Amino acid sequence: MKAFCERLQHDLSLALTFSMTLVGCVFLSVFGILSWFNSNYILSVCLLTAMLFGIINIVLLNTKYRYLTTPNLSIICAFICFVLLILGGKDETGLLWTFPLLMISIAILRVFQALVFSVVYIVSVAYLFSISQSVSWIVDYSEVVSSRYIFSSMALSALTLVLIKIQDNTNKLLELKNITDNLTGLYNRGVISTVLGEKAARRDSVTKSTLLLLDIDHFKVINDDHGHLVGDEILVHFSETLQSAIRATDFAIRWGGEEFLVILKHCELHNAYATAEKIRQSIQNHQEITSLIGKPMTVSIGLAEIDQGDDINHAIKSADKELYYAKANGRNKIIPLIDTMQPAFSQ
Ligand code: GH3
Ligand code: MG
Ligand code: MG
Repeated sequence: MKAFCERLQHDLSLALTFSMTLVGCVFLSVFGILSWFNSNYILSVCLLTAMLFGIINIVLLNTKYRYLTTPNLSIICAFICFVLLILGGKDETGLLWTFPLLMISIAILRVFQALVFSVVYIVSVAYLFSISQSVSWIVDYSEVVSSRYIFSSMALSALTLVLIKIQDNTNKLLELKNITDNLTGLYNRGVISTVLGEKAARRDSVTKSTLLLLDIDHFKVINDDHGHLVGDEILVHFSETLQSAIRATDFAIRWGGEEFLVILKHCELHNAYATAEKIRQSIQNHQEITSLIGKPMTVSIGLAEIDQGDDINHAIKSADKELYYAKANGRNKIIPLIDTMQPAFSQ
């Protein structure tokens, strides 16, 4: 219970589903009891049944079936909408309550789910209205009311869909901004926990991946001699070179000031060495960088292989150790040194 309360504090969508279901249950119990005392027994039983499902949904939130709770909530709302439409509610005002319920059902779903939900809901309601005259237990709404209800539900669904689509895009942009370095456009450290996380770094990879930790040599001197702005320009050129040397599925991360981390996915040490060497040479032969500082710039690189199930932080530490050796042994080097002319052998 304590762990669930802690999760509620940190997980906004969980807190939202929990609080909406709780508020819904309170409403349903009040209206369910009132309907009972108004001798509207069928409506009362339906509302109290919906409340029961709401409580089950709250219980599910704390289990591994948590992913079911959002669609469940939409289904419960839709169920109440149909009950209100069929029975009419008190003095046939049930129709009015369906609008907020419809909006909630759509707003909590993903865009595609919401689209399917809206279409199914509107088609079902249209069918219900079409048979209402011949079925005695369905409230017979006038043609004007039923047609206006269909059109207003369509408008409400479309508006809610547009809003959730905008929110979806904004969330994606924010997520991307949170993991992007402003100066270079590469990923920042945040990507390790979000995009890579445990899933990508551990279970996703069936073969080995390799980490490259790169640190520009004597960058402080470049800054001191040519100014911070030139330093920044060089960092941008450096990042472009890095990006063009790797595949779209790899990750280039600005790890800190003039230090970068590259994750070559499904790439063993032997092949990663060739990429590292390509980067090292491209930087040393970079024309724009050379003309900015009047001499070639160099980079030192430490490599570390990461196997399925390995701790990424441990691999970063190993790469850092190798980078330290590269620096201590004259810079402009890749450690461990691998003879790429020899074919790689499996261990
Ligand atoms: P080494 O070869 O041992 O790596 O030496 P170094 O001078 O590259 O390393 P050091 O860590 O002493 O200096 C890093 C410098 O990088 C110092 C800092 O001012 C500079 N730096 C860090 N971030 C930025 C940045 O965003 N822009 C610019 N222009 N410089 C930066
Ligand atoms: Mg450096
Ligand atoms: Mg450094």
